[in-house]
Amino acid sequence: MKIGIYGGTFNPPHLGHMAAARFAMDALGLDKLLFVPAALPPHKTLPEGTPPAAERLAMTELMADNLLRPGQVEVDDLELHRTGKSYSSDTIRALHERYPEDELWFLMGTDMFLTLQNWHEPEVILRYAGVAAFARTQSDCGEMLEIQSKYLHDTYGARVCTVQLPEIVEVSSTELRGMLARGEGGTYLCPAVYGYILMHGLYGTHADLTRLTDE
Ligand code: ATP
Repeated sequence: MKIGIYGGTFNPPHLGHMAAARFAMDALGLDKLLFVPAALPPHKTLPEGTPPAAERLAMTELMADNLLRPGQVEVDDLELHRTGKSYSSDTIRALHERYPEDELWFLMGTDMFLTLQNWHEPEVILRYAGVAAFARTQSDCGEMLEIQSKYLHDTYGARVCTVQLPEIVEVSSTELRGMLARGEGGTYLCPAVYGYILMHGLYGTHADLTRLTDE
């Protein structure tokens, strides 16, 4: 079986995640895709107002359901059961132990891919999983991806595959959180979870919901 692993903070999940996941699944011919929300991402500080991990998990589950691939797309909460930083090397090692006969592919956007050698234990990640990288903005340069692929291959013997997404949705959770907090909507950027965000008053949307109710 070919299994994709798509880690992230998913704070909140957005259309960029969904589009990339869907196209990468098809491009790589994955049998299964696991979204893995991070408890404590090593690369970023969780901004103030970040919902508890359980809420990010619930939103990631909604995103997975909205991909309409039942039995193929799942959410794995293994990082939420660990303490300390959510190192991908621990996750990949654990998934290799769980699926020793299967081929693991770690999916990521350019921003993550270009710094992979600086992560904790990159050699462990690259020993147990191939890396599938995709652009997350139109200006992400294909040549940069090629140079990095060659570097990771030559240095770690990594299996690297660059996935050309037919559609790039240029959005980040940071941008989306800003829109939500300012009451600028954003439903089209996070269709799977917009209702959940409003219902739970996440990212400063509570005031908007009250205003809508009052009107
Ligand atoms: P934040 O703005 O809070 O830093 P983010 O939008 O970068 O969040 P993450 O959940 O941290 O989202 O990203 C998880 C993974 O999804 C990373 O590999 C990242 O490169 C990738 N990714 C994020 N946004 C996009 C996008 N618009 N298109 C393709 N991949 C994306």
